[in-house]
Amino acid sequence: MNKYQTAKIVSLKQSYTCQMCYKPKFEKMYEYQAYSYVSRYKPEYFTKICRDCIYKEVFGNEWRLNKRKGVLDEMLAL
Ligand SMILES: [Zn+2]
Repeated sequence: MNKYQTAKIVSLKQSYTCQMCYKPKFEKMYEYQAYSYVSRYKPEYFTKICRDCIYKEVFGNEWRLNKRKGVLDEMLAL
């Protein structure tokens, strides 16, 4: 994972609407902001994003594998 990205779990079980896919969710909630390579461009900061969306954003094609491993979920322990 790119170290300049913000991707972290905020809540274990939460009722919310995902800001990326707009689906109502009742599950783990994450925060996400992509790293910007253009200094003047600030990527959108998502504070309510679902598990599927954050794994797709961070890992691309390998999101399913990483979701199964729960890579982002482990950051809660840090
Ligand atoms: Zn979503």
